[in-house]
Amino acid sequence: MEITELRPSLYLVRVGFGQLYLWRDADVVTVIDTGIDGSGPAIAEAVRGLGLAPSAIERIVITHGHEDHAGSAAEVRSWHGAPVHVHEADAAFVRGEVRRPDPVVTEFDAPLWEQISALGLAPTPPTTVDVLLHEGDELDFGGGATVLSIPGHTPGSIAVYLPGPKVLFTGDTIGTTPAGEVMLGVFNQDEDAQLESFHRMAALDVATACFGHGEPVVTDAGRAMREAAASHRKRRLV
Ligand SMILES: [Zn+2]
Repeated sequence: MEITELRPSLYLVRVGFGQLYLWRDADVVTVIDTGIDGSGPAIAEAVRGLGLAPSAIERIVITHGHEDHAGSAAEVRSWHGAPVHVHEADAAFVRGEVRRPDPVVTEFDAPLWEQISALGLAPTPPTTVDVLLHEGDELDFGGGATVLSIPGHTPGSIAVYLPGPKVLFTGDTIGTTPAGEVMLGVFNQDEDAQLESFHRMAALDVATACFGHGEPVVTDAGRAMREAAASHRKRRLV
């Protein structure tokens, strides 16, 4: 586990596979994504690293129903019942009612998809979903957080936007390359819808963008997203 303060109140936590974020308001914490199954101890350690007990977790917000984001939601919820928030279109995957569909693997995605598939990530342990999210919902953290429905990566993908500190959590719709370049995320259900979602987020006033994978962009992220969205060339489907 490695924790990095990106700006006051905002922490990036790298877990065994992938990453997640903590937002701190005084003595309570919002967890944005939960990593794969088994990331609970790392999340607890990260919260303790802020000088708080894991019981300080007030809510769990899942950006989409993939196993490297929802994988430890059940475990974190089991500690003291912190409510799990998921968009209604991905809720069935997270509840374990329906297996999430495989993405449409593009030529661009194929080599990485082979590597990831070989890892055999554990499926998401089913969790109760306490709050079904929709476009425009407001969450009480970070001075007021707005839920954006941004389908494409999955049908129920969301972004969470904090207009006060100008922070955006994008889930996997946007990411960065190892070189730090902003890019459209990989392993998607519907790239046309996703590209529209990318443009929608790029139009926001964003200082700090927190991606599901890859380094966050801490300052002037709106500009970086607009440039990436403008130069994105549609990838050819296999
Ligand atoms: Zn994903």
